[in-house]
Amino acid sequence: MTNTPVTRALFDEVMVPNYAPAPVIPVRGKGSRIWDQSDNEYIDFAGGIAVTSVGHSHPKLVATLKEQGEKLWHISNVMTNEPALRLAKKLTDATFAQKVYFANSGAEANEAAFKLARRFAVDHFGEEKNEIIAFEQGFHGRTLFTVSVGGQPKYSQGFGPALEGITHLPYNDIKALEAAVSNKTCAIIMEPLQGEGGIIDADPAFIKRARELCDQHNALLVLDEVQTGAGRLGTLYGYQQTGVIPDILTTAKGLGNGFPVAAMLTTDKVATSLAIGTHGSTYGGNPLACSIAEAVIDIVNTPEVLAGVNAKSKRFKAGLEAINIRLPFCNEVRGKGLLLGCALNSEYQGRAGEFLKAAQAKGLLVLVAGPNVIRMAPSLLIPEADIDAGLAILEAAISDIINAT
Ligand SMILES: *Cc1c(COP(=O)(O)O)cnc(C)c1O
Repeated sequence: MTNTPVTRALFDEVMVPNYAPAPVIPVRGKGSRIWDQSDNEYIDFAGGIAVTSVGHSHPKLVATLKEQGEKLWHISNVMTNEPALRLAKKLTDATFAQKVYFANSGAEANEAAFKLARRFAVDHFGEEKNEIIAFEQGFHGRTLFTVSVGGQPKYSQGFGPALEGITHLPYNDIKALEAAVSNKTCAIIMEPLQGEGGIIDADPAFIKRARELCDQHNALLVLDEVQTGAGRLGTLYGYQQTGVIPDILTTAKGLGNGFPVAAMLTTDKVATSLAIGTHGSTYGGNPLACSIAEAVIDIVNTPEVLAGVNAKSKRFKAGLEAINIRLPFCNEVRGKGLLLGCALNSEYQGRAGEFLKAAQAKGLLVLVAGPNVIRMAPSLLIPEADIDAGLAILEAAISDIINAT
């Protein structure tokens, strides 16, 4: 066998072209820093797209991975396992839910949630009650059902006939929602804060009205907390800041800190519709994944860490606002906890990707949320010094872009 050099060029040779990765290849990480093949250092405000919730190579997670790795990786759902049961107990103790279904990704948890919502309606009210109400710009994953429920047509077009029975409405539009919900509605599905869609928070009145309309029409409220969950917004789950309790909640991304794991949480009553044989997964809830998620929950779900998220959020927002006074680049710094966005001003519309690249070239990883929003989702444990150092790099990158315009 020849020793092919592992370079970015090899990507174009051997990988399906659905991604356009950066020119460098990261090889290790620690906390909120990562290093590439040439040992260049980056401060990580991206968190692997809101995933590495406690930072790279957290010592407790490394220890858990090694310990469980030497015990039992996989057994299938023909038998249950200790980490899955412990994790399910932790998630139900910490939330509205009494029942848990484990999956491997956000899309899979949502797939289970959407199937359950339909099944529950069919079981209790009949085949006619199958309409799902979802929102424009919403994002729920990339399987066929989840792109169909998602509110970004570019992700669902070109894959043959669309799934039926899904209505998309403008987010935060109470009147449109009131007009659309009927006795045919089986579920209203939303993110409590749209992540991919541009860091747009649900109006408290909107989410409250969605809950009321669900109650009036025997529909289920499904909250997709794949991005907002696991402490990201400064509470273990985002709904805990809204006063509204969902019937189904999905969680993934930050739950495993990079190890693929996801969960769908629901009530005793709703869970009955996922009766034996109705749904399943080979890997979902395997001991290795669940042991890591359990360790993540143990780290994140403490008053100190959650208060820390809110304190870091304030520092982050103040820093971004100060940059914007010196170098006006955005209309608004928005978001909650450590899921933050800068909505570019009229001068820089459509150019979020340029800011991402400029920051990366200077040693800072950020995200975008569409073409007009720079998004940040760092580790919930990011040290203040890394926030400040990263913001200084961001300011230098913004300065370059402003001066080149
Ligand atoms: C990322 C994301 C998903 C999809 O998760 P995958 O693990 O990529 O399948 C679903 N919903 C929301 C809100 C997300 O941010």
